[in-house]
Amino acid sequence: MTTTVTAYAALERGGPIRPWSYEQRDARPHDVRFEVLFCGVCHTDLHSIGPWGQTYPLVPGHEMVGRVTEVGSDVTHFTVGDLVAVGPVVDSCRECPPCRAGLETMCQTIATSAYDAQDRHGDGVTRGGFAESVICDERFAYAVPDGLDPAAVAPLLCAGSTVYAPLRQWGAGPGRTVGIVGIGGLGHLGVKMARALGAHTVAFTTSAAKADDALALGAHEVVVSSDPEQMAAQANRFDLLLDTVPVVHPMTPLVLSLTTGGTLCSVGLPDTFDVAPFALTLGRRSLAGGGAGGTSENREMLEFCVQHGITADIELVGKDEINTALARLAANDVKYRFVVDLGA
Ligand code: NAP
Repeated sequence: MTTTVTAYAALERGGPIRPWSYEQRDARPHDVRFEVLFCGVCHTDLHSIGPWGQTYPLVPGHEMVGRVTEVGSDVTHFTVGDLVAVGPVVDSCRECPPCRAGLETMCQTIATSAYDAQDRHGDGVTRGGFAESVICDERFAYAVPDGLDPAAVAPLLCAGSTVYAPLRQWGAGPGRTVGIVGIGGLGHLGVKMARALGAHTVAFTTSAAKADDALALGAHEVVVSSDPEQMAAQANRFDLLLDTVPVVHPMTPLVLSLTTGGTLCSVGLPDTFDVAPFALTLGRRSLAGGGAGGTSENREMLEFCVQHGITADIELVGKDEINTALARLAANDVKYRFVVDLGA
């Protein structure tokens, strides 16, 4: 017997978010069902409602915090009433080398996204966190740490995870100079985390008006990346640049800012990379990609956030403000993550 769930969905590609209901599957033995309290609004939701969407109606939202209302018969980590957080991946093959290492987001059979993906067990399309209720395997749910604001924890599960994993992979820490490119949902957490990891942290922004905020978030310096003079002054400085920009943008000036052997890791998913190969060749520099962390990295990330008191800077909005939030996100007008209050 399925459960009727009220959700907020794009009924067609590019359409506005509207109330919509669907039949949610029953709990499998390892599932938790939770009442969604908060869900962050990621730029990926904009891509998904628009060009990337596969199946409509499409219920976005993959930065979820909720309260457990039901547990399957074999659930061991959660009980009814617990606060859980769930990110962009809700299943994977669990057998390939990345899955066995707790890097399920890198599953070699393609991990199952929180929404707009085919359920691996034949239960239709996955639906996201802009809803009153979500169901997922406990392996992909995390306990919300005590002492952190649950609404501001929600964006850690995607935005936080997506910047923490590459910062760790490329050794952001004392003695390293790290640039965070694009100070939005991902980028503002990148600045907080790079600073907390001990790196000399530089914010690259196209928005000069964000300079004071970037310093307050923890940046040691701010560079206005649209200013050629400021960019030229960065040559050969950076061990790592973490680029979160969601659109095609000039990357050659950024790559030339890397030291010999430095890495620019792009997590922003632009349609293509606008970079001159000579800029990579001359400095033995690397262009890399990255994405949200797997379960082992996410557990570490949440513990790190507890230790350093890191959560997202959020603007909390109501269910009736989702379309306004999406429009403002598209216009680069948010400080620095919208979170929808679904429990209100
Ligand atoms: P966001 O909040 O909109 O932030 C993006 C930032 O990029 C903006 O705040 C802006 O920063 C900068 N930017 C925007 N337009 C620009 C332009 N035309 N030229 C240069 N800079 C520009 O987005 P987000 O939620 O952080 O997501 C960023 C991207 O990461 C999205 O494409 C999203 O789909 C992707 N993403 C990827 C993963 C993954 O697993 N790899 C996970 C989550 C998200 P300034 O104003 O400071 O310049």
